[in-house]
Amino acid sequence: MSKYVAKAFHPVNGSQEDVWEGFSWPCLFLGCFWFAAKGMWGWTVLSFLVAVPSFGVSWFIFPFFANVLHASSLRKQGYLTEKEWHAKKTGGSTQERSEPSSVADELAKLSALMKQGVLTETEFRSQKAKLIGTPPVQQAPAERPLKAEAVPPIDNPTTPCPMCRKQIRIAWLKVGENICPHCGGKIIGE
Ligand SMILES: [Zn+2]
Repeated sequence: MSKYVAKAFHPVNGSQEDVWEGFSWPCLFLGCFWFAAKGMWGWTVLSFLVAVPSFGVSWFIFPFFANVLHASSLRKQGYLTEKEWHAKKTGGSTQERSEPSSVADELAKLSALMKQGVLTETEFRSQKAKLIGTPPVQQAPAERPLKAEAVPPIDNPTTPCPMCRKQIRIAWLKVGENICPHCGGKIIGE
């Protein structure tokens, strides 16, 4: 008795072929025509030719392995199992779906690298910007001038005004009498 095993799928158009196992009754009744119906032309000719010298005995032998031959013929033609066919069919769309998650994966990796100290925070930000597609360092120019005003450069030292206590650049002070730019008070320069 033959047993239905699975469906084989044509790699291009997905047309289905039943795959069986065991003794093939249809092959016993149809003989070489069974092979012809399956498109197995080599076996069609062979089973027909062998039937003559064997006085038809081969007709009863072929059904025992006809299904195995059919299955291997399908594999040779590039037929896929149901699983392979579905994987191939959904292959295109899973790639599209995996793209946003891969960006998230990359970000997670980068953030882990930053935490490990492999990447600096600015390196992390520029990599993140590349991944997301936004221009990097938009905040940085806004931060820098603020810091530059708050922290005076070393080559431009200041001194507190004796009246208002606000910082005055020493470079402004002339020798002799000076006027504080903040309070207008008189300061004696050195
Ligand atoms: Zn002052």
